[in-house]
Amino acid sequence: MEMLVRNKIILKLLLILLFLSSFAVVFAAEDGRITDIRFWQSPEEAQVVLDISIVPRVSPVSRLKDGTLYFDINNCMFRPGRQRYPMQNPFLEVLTVQQIGAEIVRVFFRVPTGVEAKTFVLPGNASKGNRIVIFLKEPQSQLIKRRSAELTEVNRLKAENVKIIVLDPGHGGEDPGTRTNGIIEKNYVMTMGKLLKAYFDRDPRFKAVLTRDGDYIIPLQRRREIAEQLGADAFISLHANYNSRKVIRGAEIYYESPRGAVGEAERLVAETENQVDFSGETNNNHTQDVKREIVERQAAVMNKSRQLAERVELQLGASVVELPSRGVKRAGFKVLHSMAMPSVLVEFGYTSNLLDAAVLKNYNARTRMAQGVYLGVRDFLLNPIEEGLDTSYLEYIKSDEANKKALAQKRKAAQAKKDANKKKASRYQVKAGDSLSKIASKNGVPLARLLNLNNITSKHIIKVGDTLLIPAK
Ligand SMILES: [Zn+2]
Repeated sequence: MEMLVRNKIILKLLLILLFLSSFAVVFAAEDGRITDIRFWQSPEEAQVVLDISIVPRVSPVSRLKDGTLYFDINNCMFRPGRQRYPMQNPFLEVLTVQQIGAEIVRVFFRVPTGVEAKTFVLPGNASKGNRIVIFLKEPQSQLIKRRSAELTEVNRLKAENVKIIVLDPGHGGEDPGTRTNGIIEKNYVMTMGKLLKAYFDRDPRFKAVLTRDGDYIIPLQRRREIAEQLGADAFISLHANYNSRKVIRGAEIYYESPRGAVGEAERLVAETENQVDFSGETNNNHTQDVKREIVERQAAVMNKSRQLAERVELQLGASVVELPSRGVKRAGFKVLHSMAMPSVLVEFGYTSNLLDAAVLKNYNARTRMAQGVYLGVRDFLLNPIEEGLDTSYLEYIKSDEANKKALAQKRKAAQAKKDANKKKASRYQVKAGDSLSKIASKNGVPLARLLNLNNITSKHIIKVGDTLLIPAK
């Protein structure tokens, strides 16, 4: 974390110097400029992000004899001469930027042996401009070694009956989450994650693991995979909320929704069975068995997640009375899809609400918030819970299947009707000067029916000699 910040500061200072010294350079209006260079690093990967003022035209990456990699930005201006950014980190040794032609900027970079490098362009959107990303990944062998060491330690603790809790500070790196009233979500939930980890780790019955411990992004699926690989007993994703209606306030505890779960079940069935038909139309018994098994496992985990959510909600409310509770809710968040352990997502409050923001920023309240979540998880993991299945999910599946079946039947009936109409239809050959509406009126049929029977829209272009089906009257 410290190194990351230092790298960023050095880069920013260098860039400021560059801009100050580049006033003499005349920029062509259509050429882009590099407006910022940022660096993100996680234990497994790193990213260099170059912000560009226009859509950059970037060449493929080439390699020099000494192993240095480079690419060109073919519509960009930089100051004369070469700018070297020395980097002291496991992913990147040096980054050099140089104007090599009238509008060509060359970016050189050198990576240690084994580090994989990939570059790509991210187009600008509402919140971010155009970016060139150099994506750097740890060698696979080192990664496997580090992961297996982590797993050995966790297994040793589990043998001593220590419960493993995976804490997931949301967002990170290029994705800041919500930013309002002086709170940047990615940083806020990082602070909360570390506070919470301290609560768990000083209790010998628990061991907490963070999905990220610095300012970098992790894909949503990867976050729960970390917990799955460690065989965690609980997964807690940490967030802060935002709403444009500033009166909305309070904490919310989420667990998996039926709609989210059914989507995940479909994906898993498709993955194992290589088929997506979930309408109940399929007579493949094996597929139905696979599906039933997945749904039951989901319903069992959801039943536990609900109880975890309820206990966290209760304890959080008791620990931080100044933060109102909006209750336990359900949503199909991707991080909650795991079937391996009970999973909840905590929204600590609305950064958009001034009262909530004041609570969130208060050091004392923050400590009590962490304590509340810790007590809720502790209650859940150390006390007996109700075994069983989430009945509302099972009901949802039943009605979802019925709806899909009805829809499939309706489609089948419509298709059968269309096929019958096709059989009764006569054929018409397109002549010069014909249009779709002329053909319809000439044959005394509504245009919509003509289009429907021929599976075309009004934008369809007809050519002389084409054959069209004319619906029977
Ligand atoms: Zn969030």
